[in-house]
Amino acid sequence: MNGGGGAAIKGFTVRLLRRSFASMANSLWRVSMELEALLQLIRQKLADGRLPHNSIPRVWGGQGNNEVCGACDRIIEKNQFVMEGIGAAMKAVQFHVRCFYYWDAERKPPGR
Ligand SMILES: [Zn+2]
Repeated sequence: MNGGGGAAIKGFTVRLLRRSFASMANSLWRVSMELEALLQLIRQKLADGRLPHNSIPRVWGGQGNNEVCGACDRIIEKNQFVMEGIGAAMKAVQFHVRCFYYWDAERKPPGR
């Protein structure tokens, strides 16, 4: 009675799953490319001294106020959280939370 219907629904579900998997893989790929670009930028800035190597002794956070992120050069908007600290030469540096995290990870020599 219901012979072909089930198969058609099954085929549709498979197609749907395949499509959502492809878009998920695609967005993961995009995220990892973006992350790689961000890490490159942070490494470059560490190398040429635009970002401090030493830890920032005290960091505070708060609401963004259109500061420019020290790592990714993008604006930290008011709906985002900003991490701010005083780096080398008493220069204030602001980061997105995720950029702060990556800077902190990148500045440490590997194996420590
Ligand atoms: Zn940033």
